[in-house]
Formats: sequence, C-alpha cells, structure tokens
Amino acid sequence: MSDFSIVQAQGIGKEFPNMTAPVLDEVNLTVASGEIVALRGPSGSGKSTLLNILGCLDGPTRGSYSLGGRDVSTLSRREQAWVRLHYIGFIFQSFHLISDNTVIENVTLPLYYAGLGRHEREARATELIERVGLGHRMGHRPSQLSGGEKQRVAIARAVAAQPRLLLADEPTGALDTRTGNEVMDLLLEIHAAGSLTLIIVTHDPDVAAFCHRQIFLRDGKIITHGSSHAPNA
Ligand code: ADP
Repeated sequence: MSDFSIVQAQGIGKEFPNMTAPVLDEVNLTVASGEIVALRGPSGSGKSTLLNILGCLDGPTRGSYSLGGRDVSTLSRREQAWVRLHYIGFIFQSFHLISDNTVIENVTLPLYYAGLGRHEREARATELIERVGLGHRMGHRPSQLSGGEKQRVAIARAVAAQPRLLLADEPTGALDTRTGNEVMDLLLEIHAAGSLTLIIVTHDPDVAAFCHRQIFLRDGKIITHGSSHAPNA
C-alpha cells in the first residue's frame, strides 16, 4: 500500500430520471494505491451504481471523481472507454466470458484492444492462464469449465492489460465456500505480486474479512468506514 490515492471521490451524487430520491448522495471515498476495500450494504443501497461510476461505466450527476490523479467525472463515452481499457479490470459474479471463445481467446481479447501484437498477446495470456492454474485448459470453452475455473479465467482476463484498479462485483457469489475462498486466495496472490488496488462488492463476510477495509452503503450514503463495529449487511 502507498500514500498515493488512486481513487478520490468527493460529494458523488447520482440521480436517475423519474426517481424521487438520489441513488447516491454525497459519497466521499478515498482509496490508497494497493488497498483492498470491501463495499457492502443491503440490496438496492447503491453498490453497483457506485461501482459503475468508479469503473467509468457511468458518470456521477454531482461531485467529482479522480482516478490516478486525473478527473474522470466528466469524460465522454469514448474517453471513459479509453480509461477503462488502460486502468481498470472488471470481475463479475456470472463471469461474463465469451462462450464461443476458448480460454486463451478470452484472455487475449483485452490485449488485442490494448494494441499488443499477436505474439505478445499469446505469450502474456499463456503466462497468466498458467499462473491461475489452468495451463491444461487453454483450448477449452467456458461451458467445459467449472464455476471456479471460469472465475480464474475471468481474473486472468481482468488483469491481462495490467490495470491499476480491479473492480469485482460479488466475485464469489456463484461459487461454493471452498471454491470462493480459493478464488479470493488467487486474487490476494495477484494483488501481492503487483501494484493493484482492489474494490470488491460483496455480501459475504468471509470475503470482506480478506479485505483491508470495509465500507458500508445504506440508501446511497456511506454509513461506516472500517472493519470493526460493522453492521450486518
Ligand atoms: P445495489 O447494487 O446495492 O443492489 P444498485 O446500485 O443496483 O444497488 O441500485 C440502487 C438503486 O438505484 C435501486 O433502487 C435501483 O432500482 C436504482 N437504479 C439503479 N440503476 C438504475 C437506472 N439505470 N435507472 C433507474 N434506477 C436505477
């Protein structure tokens, strides 16, 4: 962990048309480079909306968001896509792998968009797939893999372009406890080897226990920072 704040969100608000109350209200969040943060809260509290803003998939309607020292709250869609490609990796509960593509094709895809040549793409993807323990599954398609294996592929894909920020939305939500713990161990191993910052949306206290810090959202507001005296969420 370093003193450098990779995420600085100040006074973030998000409103959707035809909604009476804002979905996010005055959210202030600073995350240091290298930190692992759990984002918790009941269903409908605004976790996904906040994750979408932190991931530059959507912009706030109020406040400012700076990522790696650059204000990204008012970018165009094209600029947001550039920031996502170069700075951010995503992991989802339901993996979101391309079903017609093999494991290695899934992991090389972001490297293609990042502009790497074929040889470099394949070398880096092969190394990553071996690192997540799936060297023997390179040519398999997602339907031939277990849930835990699919999430390992998704992790390899998410970190392939060497993002600074990794956002995970319920990464163990579709897995049994043992497989979920293995996936968390893998994320921690990858985190330890690099300078990645991790923000993990989770309902699971076991997953949150892996994190340095927990943040609780309720009705679009952050109600608690820290891991002690945490309310049930
Ligand atoms: P969580 O991830 O904590 O379950 P969400 O961020 O998905 O919460 O949703 C928070 C609230 O925002 C919910 O009331 C949801 O219905 C509303 N919401 C989310 N996205 C939209 C949208 N695109 N348009 C209107 N309302 C939305």
